Amino acid sequence: MTIREPLLGLSRSELAGLMQSSGEPAYRAQQVAEAIYRQRVESVEEISTLPQQLRARLAEEGVVVGLPRMEKRFVSVDGTVRYLMEFGDGQSVETVWMPEGDGGEASESESGESENRSAMRGWGRATICISSQVGCAVDCQFCLTALLGVKRNLTAGEIVGQVCAVLNDQRVSPQHDRINLVFMGMGEPFLNYDNFIKAVRLLVQEVGLAESRMTVSTAGIVPRISDFGKEEIRPRLAISLNASNDDQRTRLMPLNRKYNLDLLMAAAREFPLRNRERVTFEYVLLHGVNDLPENAREVVELLRGIKARVNLIALNPGPGIDFEMPSDENVAAFQTILREEGILTFVRRPRGRDIYAACGQLKRTVEIATAPAG
Ligand code: SAH
Repeated sequence: MTIREPLLGLSRSELAGLMQSSGEPAYRAQQVAEAIYRQRVESVEEISTLPQQLRARLAEEGVVVGLPRMEKRFVSVDGTVRYLMEFGDGQSVETVWMPEGDGGEASESESGESENRSAMRGWGRATICISSQVGCAVDCQFCLTALLGVKRNLTAGEIVGQVCAVLNDQRVSPQHDRINLVFMGMGEPFLNYDNFIKAVRLLVQEVGLAESRMTVSTAGIVPRISDFGKEEIRPRLAISLNASNDDQRTRLMPLNRKYNLDLLMAAAREFPLRNRERVTFEYVLLHGVNDLPENAREVVELLRGIKARVNLIALNPGPGIDFEMPSDENVAAFQTILREEGILTFVRRPRGRDIYAACGQLKRTVEIATAPAG
């Protein structure tokens, strides 16, 4: 039996090619796409629109859907769920489910269809945070994922598969529920650009998620920011700023040596925004390091002329991280300085800290006080 590429991750035309090579008509691609991306079946045997014989033959040929295996599931007191997802080669990443979103992303109010469902289950919208790489190569000094180093890129199918697996587990669908997606889990999406953007297209065109409900966060891979701006189908852009001057940013994010603040802010300034869109800047506040009024004033200068929105994130601590959480007073003062300058600024509520699910805490921790649920 030859090892075949999993179905998840294949585009319509790739599916058509696969069907044709098995001597099947091209319209079978439509049936397969519906089954794997909309219905989200787990095996080819479950693709009920295909003739039984064909299903058996595909299975025999070693064709698999390729959903990741849910190895572990941790549930936080705040409702956040952290999933440890394993792929065929034994590598794993984390994916996070946050009912009610993370308090930091777009939250246009809507009415209608989903109101009743929301009232029944207790959340009106939810955010899925997905990973783009196994580990990360960027080496930000405050992030636990950095401690893993980078093991490999995820394929487009593995990126889409995380979303499908969570939708299935939570029994929700983008057609009936308000689902936001953030590419803010493990890894740097712009260092796995081609697979990331292919996954985006599949998520929009096949799974049915709205572009306007997706946000990708980059540590600042400047040439990819320009490429990204040219994409016809793209999520919103978030940039991890995290420091207010080059010296400090280079210390916190060594990547700044390659793409400094001049280059980064120029890319942000030139980024072609859509109607009512803004570039989000994330800023992790580290006690006594970058959380002082002078830092806030430097940030104001950096953002001049940019249609920006700032998400302040209080450090989520972790073993091996040599920084401390900022005081509530410093967070509030920082936010006030930005707001007084007319900059839209929010403080991101930490989600799932107790289960190591919050920003910068994804390192496949399995030894925690809370027992894994399910
Ligand atoms: N590599 C991408 C995607 C990861 S997003 C990026 O860097 O943008 C993760 C977000 O969490 C980033 O904005 C990052 O700055 C932030 N973050 C990392 N470590 C953190 C920590 N310990 N506490 C709070 N936020 C953290």
